[in-house]
Amino acid sequence: MAVVITEEARRRMQPAFADLEPYDPLFTPVDVLLSANENPCDVPPVVRACLNAALTATPLNRYPDPMSNKLRDAIALWRGCDRENVIVGNGGDELLYNLLLAFGGPGRVLVNTPPAFSEYALQAQLTGTTVRDVWRTADFALDEEAVIEASKDAAIVILTSPNNPTGDLASREFVERLARSTDALVLVDEAYGEFAGDDASCLPLVKERPNVVVLRTLSKAYALAGARCGYIIASPDVVAGLAAVRQPYSVNVLTQAAAQVVVEMHDAYEESIARIVFERERLYAELRELADAGKLEVWESAANFLFVRVTGAARLFERLRDEHSILVRNFSGAPGCADCLRFTVGSPEENDRLFAAVRDML
Ligand code: PMP
Repeated sequence: MAVVITEEARRRMQPAFADLEPYDPLFTPVDVLLSANENPCDVPPVVRACLNAALTATPLNRYPDPMSNKLRDAIALWRGCDRENVIVGNGGDELLYNLLLAFGGPGRVLVNTPPAFSEYALQAQLTGTTVRDVWRTADFALDEEAVIEASKDAAIVILTSPNNPTGDLASREFVERLARSTDALVLVDEAYGEFAGDDASCLPLVKERPNVVVLRTLSKAYALAGARCGYIIASPDVVAGLAAVRQPYSVNVLTQAAAQVVVEMHDAYEESIARIVFERERLYAELRELADAGKLEVWESAANFLFVRVTGAARLFERLRDEHSILVRNFSGAPGCADCLRFTVGSPEENDRLFAAVRDML
């Protein structure tokens, strides 16, 4: 049951938080869960075997290494940088909060490009950072010149690539131009970067531009959403600022051990990532046919989800859930997303079930 905040509780809360509600992912028990952009499969069996051994060998009586240094080294080796360029967090969410805490705050501006991941605005509110929205165009493209203009005196700019929920990429050329044009930290949130491929990543820019910061997570392509582990690659100065504000023991020993195995065995995921990309293109092609028949709109995506616009989206969402036991994400009430739904790419069977249900209802 949802947590209810009474008037009395609100009276005691900081006035700036009086309108907040606890985060609710709106999970409902269903057969097919396509709402949270998770990996439809658990970690590959070969990884699972090593992971189990690592967890079994991890003592629980000692506090974790606050900075996860062994894991930082493994990530640095993987990503071709130094330990000083890496910081690990309890999911990307924690790192987003720490970024705004360290480099935002009262009197500082965050440039956001909605429709975007809802956590950015939330973390800005929690840290007292002012949000400056540069809305995407009617077709969800970034308004690049407006972003450059809005970022001139900002403290932080967040671009999401691929963007959640729209699936499009921010080009490396644009990110570089933006980073040159402002002193702000430019965070490129690449939570879904593995589904877009290395060529689309802004990681190479971190070495060239000290104000470029890249966020990654093990939650999506690496099937570790339940363990909570994300990381940032940035200049040593940015990493030091983030280290100063973080909760010391937020990444527990079990998560550090699991993430270590996953990072060291990242090659074992190639097949599963390729399968999700293949399924994304297959589902896109099917939805495209419905789009060509005038039944919905669908956008190309470089992530593990597809964004669609369909008349009566809220009703379609309910019917998928109640009649077909399929949970997707309903964006139809979100600003700028009228009649939009987001479909996470699932297993081939799940995608077949989703497509058949959508086709039959339109
Ligand atoms: N960034 C984006 C764009 C996301 O969609 C998510 C997860 N929904 C995250 C960051 C954070 O993921 P996590 O906290 O699981 O690492």
